[in-house]
Amino acid sequence: MKQQILGKPVEQWVSELPLLQDIMDCREVTWFNVNHVSFREAAPDVGLTTADIDDAAARLKRFAPLIAELFPETKSTAGIIESPLMAVPDQQEALGKRYGQRLPGRLWAKLDSELPISGSIKARGGIYEVLKHAEDLAIGAGLLSQKDDYRKLSNEKLRKFFGDYRIAVGSTGNLGLSIGIMSAALGFDASVHMSADARQWKKDKLRAHGVHVHEYQDDYSVAVAAGRKESANDPKAYFVDDENSPTLFLGYAVAARRLAGQLQAYDVKVDESNPLFVYLPCGVGGSPGGVAFGLKSMFGDNVRCIFVEPTHCPSMLLGVYTGLNDRVSVQDFGIDNVTAADGLACGRPSQFVGKAMRRVIDGFCTIADDELFSIEANLHDSTGIDIEPSSAAGFACPWRVLASARYREATGLDDAAMSRSTHLAWVTGGSMVPRDEMAVYIARGKRLLR
Ligand SMILES: *Cc1c(COP(=O)(O)O)cnc(C)c1O
Repeated sequence: MKQQILGKPVEQWVSELPLLQDIMDCREVTWFNVNHVSFREAAPDVGLTTADIDDAAARLKRFAPLIAELFPETKSTAGIIESPLMAVPDQQEALGKRYGQRLPGRLWAKLDSELPISGSIKARGGIYEVLKHAEDLAIGAGLLSQKDDYRKLSNEKLRKFFGDYRIAVGSTGNLGLSIGIMSAALGFDASVHMSADARQWKKDKLRAHGVHVHEYQDDYSVAVAAGRKESANDPKAYFVDDENSPTLFLGYAVAARRLAGQLQAYDVKVDESNPLFVYLPCGVGGSPGGVAFGLKSMFGDNVRCIFVEPTHCPSMLLGVYTGLNDRVSVQDFGIDNVTAADGLACGRPSQFVGKAMRRVIDGFCTIADDELFSIEANLHDSTGIDIEPSSAAGFACPWRVLASARYREATGLDDAAMSRSTHLAWVTGGSMVPRDEMAVYIARGKRLLR
């Protein structure tokens, strides 16, 4: 019998969706989403509104005094967890040489690698979901009102109250760090279920915070399933479901309005004739989905959001391209889900994000692991900033847009528009990677650059 994938022969898949051949062969691909429609039309798919993002931002504000107290590194931002935005002209030039073409417009980096508390984009969604749960519990028990000074949550009585409750999550590493550190800081009994990709230092750090770390020799979906199961029969347990969480999504979405303020501060225009491209490394889809939703709510169709995945783990691309969303995994198509980009190693995309964002996402790129390391080394040389492999993914994509004449023509991106464009690579993690491990990453990249 011929090889079948989800009840259909491979040949038929490929004849219906020709890009599948390159995707299955783990070659780098660029795909602009044929389902994409204007945000006005697609917004109802999401089922959330600007008011929901406002609500999330207000909640983070209520917690800010407490955050500043629990995490002194956030004192200087008054307890708001935010990262720098930086122009990276030297990186733009270095990559222009690497890809053999000068990029018109300007390249920026949004450095979530520098986010306080957990050093990755998960410090947005992950921490937000823990805070929301803590608030719900404390208000429900009559121990807190929204008008209170939230610093009271760190007193003995409240810590003991939270100590009766459990929080669990499945993670490839960074989400576990964010959930674990924040849960432990509030006094919760926290468990993190780690997939085989998770780096040892992330597990060590969590254990040092008193978090229970469960290790699996399997991929992320298995770790998530284990966490979900552990929590299912326990009324005092709360499971942060990265494959299906609107709460995480909203925590990420708040990033967009903060970015809008930063762009304004640097006098970067975003409007119909000054497009903004944002390149978002994508794992299960929660963080890029949430940020993209926030961005589209702020800038409408003047922002284009491109998701980037490793060639060995193009899960969200497969879900959207085939229309199967979370009913397809990369393994179904014989793709091994083995990548050095541990933050992106999710074989099956988020059900919630797939449904919500199917018509919102502008496009997808996949990138080879070697390229991630080369970019990382480039960034180290050009700016002195060190990041983890997952977070390097966005930098290659402006050149993909540049190379896609058909897409540019179809969407009104002539040379003048390209020269007025802002390209922003979302750098999603890295400041907490131990130095010796970082040195290995950079060395690998430098060998590839030679
Ligand atoms: C988790 C993660 C991502 C992707 O976020 P998802 O919500 O899984 O799509 C990107 N970069 C880093 C460093 C991450 O840890």
